Amino acid sequence: MAARQGILTLNAGSSSIKFALYAVAAGRELELRYRGLLDGIGEDARLRVSDAAGAVTERRRLPGGADHERALAAVLEWLQANLGDLALIAAGHRVVHGGPAHIAPALGVGGLRGELQVLCALAPLHQPHSLAAIRAIRQLRPQLPQVACFDTAFHRTQPLVAQRFALPEAYAQRGVLRYGFHGLSYESIAQRLADYDPAAAAGRTVVAHLGNGASMCAMRGRRSIATTMGFTALDGLMMGQRPGSIDPGVLLYLLQHDGMSPAQLEELLYRRSGLLGVSGFSMDMRELLASDAESAALAVALYCYRARCELGALVAALGGLDALVFTAGIGENAAPIRAAICQELEWLGLMFDPEANERHGPRISREGSRVRAWVIPTDEELVIARHTLNVVSG
Ligand code: ADP
Repeated sequence: MAARQGILTLNAGSSSIKFALYAVAAGRELELRYRGLLDGIGEDARLRVSDAAGAVTERRRLPGGADHERALAAVLEWLQANLGDLALIAAGHRVVHGGPAHIAPALGVGGLRGELQVLCALAPLHQPHSLAAIRAIRQLRPQLPQVACFDTAFHRTQPLVAQRFALPEAYAQRGVLRYGFHGLSYESIAQRLADYDPAAAAGRTVVAHLGNGASMCAMRGRRSIATTMGFTALDGLMMGQRPGSIDPGVLLYLLQHDGMSPAQLEELLYRRSGLLGVSGFSMDMRELLASDAESAALAVALYCYRARCELGALVAALGGLDALVFTAGIGENAAPIRAAICQELEWLGLMFDPEANERHGPRISREGSRVRAWVIPTDEELVIARHTLNVVSG
């Protein structure tokens, strides 16, 4: 059988690697072959792969656990054994931070490595792992073109006022700007929005990406005009382990008067706060919603309160709202969270539909509601694969 062209996508995070394998079909359409997740990196690493129809084709524990390097090796081993009739033509990577320069995906990530390495300080949870994945593939298949798809790139259309901090110009010159993240997810929603709500696609939309990391993006005509994350992925909404917006005076206090080192502060902000910090026991929204603990209820209430406040700020930046879209793990699956965020938004013209919300929509606002609310699944892997194919085929 003649080989068909294949594209691998890799999305390496702090404790998981998501990957997908696509075949390039006629007309350069992409056909999903497999989607996989290696999570629990550390002591409890598990690989799970499903085919295009969602049927699980592989599920196993990695005995003795796995660090990132071993986890990646397991993914590449799986790949070698499951390519079938596909000849890989490229690998595409989600790279969280592209800095000020990258407004589009970039080919030849080898040459960019130094530049992207510097940005690890701005995305310590993700960037080093994306770069490790790029290195590993280079070693295994030195000839395979690799494409970096940046989570920051989608936001580079924002007006200057949305990108600047109120700091002296010299800091902006040195790249201390609001970048924003989850751009590949927002791009995925921007590409699908017209199928659900053509008026919103041409108008004003806020997309809430609520996963372990969480942010919101204000789009006008499907382009980003503002977002809740800033210089790093710490700003904005409360998240699984990160606090979201916090008075910078708190950080000064902890450093200067509470004996905290910068490394301890980083640990507090990236790993010990958010849902985990407030509940005291879990960053997993499913566990918190199922719990009777008062601290879990407070964590959930704070999460929804902060989301409503950030939404209000983005609606002000947009000068109004046509649609609100929920996406990612919590946004797509957690009906009580969507209800708590939407139920107090009548003032905004959003008439929430609780029954439709329980069914996960896709429309969760009532017929005739001036502002529509939607649940739309994101597909970052497909966005990465499309960019990768476009870049390598010029
Ligand atoms: P990541 O940012 O790692 O890609 P996801 O988008 O997968 O994360 O989102 C993970 C979050 O989604 C977790 O808090 C998880 O509890 C939550 N989640 C997933 N499914 C459900 C569900 N059915 N109900 C409530 N929360 C859910």
